[in-house]
Amino acid sequence: MESGDILERIRQADMVLVGLGEEFDTEKLLQQDEVCRQGSEALGRAAYGWAIPAWNAYCAARKGEDGAVRAVKRLRDILENKNYFVVSVSTNSAVVQAAGREDRVVSPCGGTVKKQCVKNCGSEPVAVSDDDREKLNDFFEGLYQGKSVEAGPLLGKCPSCGCEMVLNNILAENYNEKGYLDDWQKYMKWLQGTLNRKLLVLELGVGMKYPSVIRWPFEKVAAYNQKAFFCRVNEKIYQLPQEISTKGCGISQNAIAWLGEL
Ligand SMILES: [Zn+2]
Repeated sequence: MESGDILERIRQADMVLVGLGEEFDTEKLLQQDEVCRQGSEALGRAAYGWAIPAWNAYCAARKGEDGAVRAVKRLRDILENKNYFVVSVSTNSAVVQAAGREDRVVSPCGGTVKKQCVKNCGSEPVAVSDDDREKLNDFFEGLYQGKSVEAGPLLGKCPSCGCEMVLNNILAENYNEKGYLDDWQKYMKWLQGTLNRKLLVLELGVGMKYPSVIRWPFEKVAAYNQKAFFCRVNEKIYQLPQEISTKGCGISQNAIAWLGEL
């Protein structure tokens, strides 16, 4: 399907449901950089997995690599004045923030903008402060120069139990899902309003890491809605299941590159 056809589909749609996938983590790209890859591995080994999305963002900034953010901004421009909602399984918060209005985005895998108790003792996730960001940045600066990962509590202590705070994302050992539940409620309500409306489903770069968040439910939404059109963009797994094969298209391309050409 030509890009022009998709733009026309967007223009004609009443509502647009967007899914942003793992491709927007740009992990593959960053892993080509030896320092970034080694840092990422060291964080994982030292139980600092929750810091990897922030580390990736740090490395991307150092390299001046902002292709994913630029691509999503392009999408945002195209969707301007449309009634749309974005669901992201990418933990790249810069991408999610670029995607659109705050009240029209949900990140079920979390990201780098909130922090939580490492034990998930029941306290609510809170926003990461400027001070936190500065400490993380210093820590990454050291890691980039080959220093050890041992850092002590970087993001302060939990107000309830006094344990360390970590970034609120799915790589945390005890991920606190309360961090996105309010947004999820908004999404569910928005989704109810899509019934009988001309809905365009745009699934971009979503792999099989968390298929129950975007891939499978999006297919269902498209199958149930008589007026839906489903567009899946993915480098490798771009095929559509049989139920929606006649009302959609699968495009075999990297989603970031595809958006860049749209
Ligand atoms: Zn706690």
